[in-house]
Amino acid sequence: MAKVTLTFDNGPDPQATPLVLDCLGHHGIKSTFFVLGQKVSTPDGLNLARRASREGHWVGNHTWSHGARLGDLDRESALGEFDRTEQALSWLDQSPRLFRPHGGAGRLGRGLLHPAVVDRMKLGGYTCVLWNVVPGDFRDPDGWMDRALADCRTREWSLVVLHDRDNGAMRHLESFLRKLRDEGHDLIQDFPPDCTPIVNGKVVQPLDEFC
Ligand SMILES: [Zn+2]
Repeated sequence: MAKVTLTFDNGPDPQATPLVLDCLGHHGIKSTFFVLGQKVSTPDGLNLARRASREGHWVGNHTWSHGARLGDLDRESALGEFDRTEQALSWLDQSPRLFRPHGGAGRLGRGLLHPAVVDRMKLGGYTCVLWNVVPGDFRDPDGWMDRALADCRTREWSLVVLHDRDNGAMRHLESFLRKLRDEGHDLIQDFPPDCTPIVNGKVVQPLDEFC
C-alpha cells in the first residue's frame, strides 16, 4: 500500500483554507500547512492557522513573502523571510518546527536554500521539508487531480504539494481524497525521509545541490 502525505502551501486563505480543513476533518486526515508570514500575521490568517493546529495539523514556515528564492537573496533578506515568519508563528506549540523553502513552480536544486537559513534550522532544531509530487494545482485548478493520482500510483511514498489558494482548485480536494482512499493509499502526516534533508536540526542529506 503506497503512502501519501498531503501538504498545503502559501495560505492561509480565508476562502480556501476553511474548505480544506473541513474536507480533511471529514476524512480524518492530518496534513501540514506551510504558511506565508505575511498572511499568517493578519487576523484571518492567524485564526485559520490556529484552527489548523488545533485540529491536529502541523503548521510550518514557508517564508514571509514567497518572493525570490532564498538563494537569490542577500543574507539579511533571506534571514528576514525566515525570522519574520517565525515571529508570526511564535504562538505555535509544535515540535519539531518545520520550514519549507519555495522553489518557484516546484523546482528543487541550487538556490533553494540560503546558508544563513540552514544555520538557523540547525540551531533551532528545525526539520526542512521538501516534496516529490507537484501536480500544479496553482496553474491548472481543474486538471491537477489526475496528475496527482498518476504520480501517487508510481511512488512508494508521495509528498504532495497542494495550495490552499483561492483559485478553485480545492473544490476537487474531496474527490481527490476519496479516490486516494479507493485506490488503497495510506494517508499519513509524516514526511518521507528522502524529502527531509534536515531533521530536528541535523543535516541528513548533502545540501550542496540546494545552496
Ligand atoms: Zn509555495
